[in-house]
Amino acid sequence: MSDKWKIYDRDIVGLSLMLHDEITDNHIPLCEIDVEPGIHDHIVIRGQTYSFCQKSFKIRAAVARRIDLGDEHDTEDTEHAVCPHCGHEDHDCFEWSGDDAEHDCGHCSLPFSYTREVTISYTTVKKGRSYKKPIAEV
Ligand SMILES: [Zn+2]
Repeated sequence: MSDKWKIYDRDIVGLSLMLHDEITDNHIPLCEIDVEPGIHDHIVIRGQTYSFCQKSFKIRAAVARRIDLGDEHDTEDTEHAVCPHCGHEDHDCFEWSGDDAEHDCGHCSLPFSYTREVTISYTTVKKGRSYKKPIAEV
């Protein structure tokens, strides 16, 4: 077996393939590298930045997802937290602790700070009838 690691595009092979070591010769790797990739390490392949999300020692292969670190991302007043580095929208951000804290992106692993803004609203329901005995009817 080669000492090289084969790198695959997650958008093409998916994660389930790696989980079951099912990458075959039919899947074309993006490249092969001499160093063992770490989860969340970055690699630049043909000018595109990728972040490693899964690897298998058994088949010496890793899956990486392409990340967009170059553009401006809309991060203000969004429903879910958006990574200012790569634009990933994290739908689990409600689980983050603290309303004014720091977080490492689940896609690109780069740190950013966030502020959680909570809006308070009220709902009311009648208790009993809409009637109060008047002191007088004139
Ligand atoms: Zn990110």
